[in-house]
Amino acid sequence: MTFEVKTKGHYDFIDITDKVTAAVSEANIKDGTATIFVKGSTCGLVMMEYEEGLIRDLINIFEKIAPEDADYLHHRRWVDKNGAAHIKSVLIGADLTIPIEKEVLQLGTWQQIVLIDFDERPRTREIIVKILS
Ligand code: ZN
Repeated sequence: MTFEVKTKGHYDFIDITDKVTAAVSEANIKDGTATIFVKGSTCGLVMMEYEEGLIRDLINIFEKIAPEDADYLHHRRWVDKNGAAHIKSVLIGADLTIPIEKEVLQLGTWQQIVLIDFDERPRTREIIVKILS
């Protein structure tokens, strides 16, 4: 199944756990895996505790690695200014694989599925969930 998420860009962290969990429930798979994938090269998916302090800590770390206001060669290739977003997307990746046991996605209590959008502008992101048994 596929669903869309509207994002604001500039480190927008969006908890998509409920939507993925609903997709897994609908599939009625006893044991298998769920692959979650986001289309786009300026965003990515992570598993993390979805908590304001950690979100701010991660933004601080990401800004040390690839600051939004730095200059990137990518900006000369295209007219856009999202070189930092592309770098962070590469680092975190666009997909996750999570085991399903007894029809339940095996996430820890403090382990949410989170879309992070690094882009310089609002976007609509397409998330694809594929469930295999
Ligand atoms: Zn770009």
